[in-house]
Amino acid sequence: MPAHAGGYSDVRIPVSDIPPYSVDAAPDALILTLFGTSANTDIINFASTDSVVRRVTWRQVASDRAEYRVELHRAPFGYLVMWERGVLVLRVRRAPAIDRARPLRGLVIAVDAGHPPAGSTGPTGLYEAVATLGIAERLKTYLEQRGATVVMTRSAPGAVALTDRPVIARRADAHAFVSIHLNAFPDGVNPFGRHGTGTYYFNVWSEPMARAVQAGMVRRMGLRDLGIYYDNLAVLRPTWMPSVLCEGAFLMIPEQEAALRTPDFQDAYARGVADGLEVYFRELGR
Ligand SMILES: [Zn+2]
Repeated sequence: MPAHAGGYSDVRIPVSDIPPYSVDAAPDALILTLFGTSANTDIINFASTDSVVRRVTWRQVASDRAEYRVELHRAPFGYLVMWERGVLVLRVRRAPAIDRARPLRGLVIAVDAGHPPAGSTGPTGLYEAVATLGIAERLKTYLEQRGATVVMTRSAPGAVALTDRPVIARRADAHAFVSIHLNAFPDGVNPFGRHGTGTYYFNVWSEPMARAVQAGMVRRMGLRDLGIYYDNLAVLRPTWMPSVLCEGAFLMIPEQEAALRTPDFQDAYARGVADGLEVYFRELGR
């Protein structure tokens, strides 16, 4: 478990069994729903002077469903749900303290070079995973220059399982997860239609990071702005940190494949992502 002192607050709810649950994020709250159980109004536990959690309210929304509304002092940054011997723990992550002059200083950023396994191949044979590793290594350099510590989920040609990648980020207690990919088209789609730069997110609190990274890439790379996309992708589902997946260019477009073989274009991709992360964290520090 992440163990930064003061990096989170726990809301502890005694329950006799591990109930099925869901967590929904609101702009300034997390809503935990427990199914097949009734709300225990007496013994929920959190510190009233907490700087992350403002207050917790609960209600029985149906005979077999209890809802806990964990109101936060600001937008969610991440959470985990854990089970500790008779207690369900909602661990709410505190957003990091930011030096707005050097927003990335002291942060841990997980950089995920997409593939293998799988991955697409361009018309003249450039393999996606070769290009994503080149871009990821450049991104690492730029983030370190701006004061961040970088954890690479892959730093060699060999495969790293999709499910292992967010685990590496969580074990490092990373403050952001950024996955680097290149887009392809499904079979039968005209490759000369809509192509350009896009960014994906899943958890709602990742959306501001997706917007900032998208803007950074578009500015540096000069391709068409396809905008941000909400998508349920495996590497974006984990909840302990904001996560985005970048599809900075289209490997299937011959001009973009050719550009991706050049240090300059890989550099533009990496700088765009680094710029975006810097903008996002500076804004978070307001
Ligand atoms: Zn990919």
